[in-house]
Amino acid sequence: MAIQIRTASPDERRLTWWDRLYLPAVFSGLAYTFRRLFMKPFTVQYPEEPIELGPEFRGRPVLVAENGKERCVACGLCARVCPPFAIHMQAAETDDPKERYPAIFEINMLRCIYCGLCEDVCPEEAIVMSPEYDFVFRTREEAIYTKEKLLVDKKDLEHRLRWLKKMRNTQFGKRFRFRVANNIHSVKARSMMKEGEEVVS
Ligand code: SF4
Ligand code: SF4
Repeated sequence: MAIQIRTASPDERRLTWWDRLYLPAVFSGLAYTFRRLFMKPFTVQYPEEPIELGPEFRGRPVLVAENGKERCVACGLCARVCPPFAIHMQAAETDDPKERYPAIFEINMLRCIYCGLCEDVCPEEAIVMSPEYDFVFRTREEAIYTKEKLLVDKKDLEHRLRWLKKMRNTQFGKRFRFRVANNIHSVKARSMMKEGEEVVS
């Protein structure tokens, strides 16, 4: 089957006498440059000046810590969905027969591509993309972030968590409201119910 390629029509190529002078284009370019001289510069003197990033920025993934322990219930979804297999985790049982926790949770930061898929699939909002972007490691071992290094208190991630809640609610509306009674095993649902929040997914 022949593929049709749309080319410019003869009228599109025809320049007027005014266009062919090129001077209007040159002067409008110069005028723009001149106007920019008096505008606030966008340049930031990094690293002396910190960069302010919005909640939509995806920095390094971290585990949310709530009341001193991880929210993660070791379901393994994040490890399965991670495209470069950056997440390694091992689940262990807790005293509660319904609960599990990650005995080992590691992210290989040399592999992570900051795609945010782990955050998307997590049913507990236990792994989120933090605003942290300036971190250094000098060896391969240092690039393996263990659970201790990954845990960040919930209050330091409020910015992102609030944004996620807003985006998800906008996207899904109330059509996918889940029945709380069927989801009491969820740590997130329990803590939300305790705080008197409305539980929607
Ligand atoms: S952000 Fe993407 S690459 Fe990084 S750990 Fe999460 S899923 Fe894997
Ligand atoms: S998807 Fe969430 S709850 Fe499941 S293992 Fe990953 S961080 Fe934990």
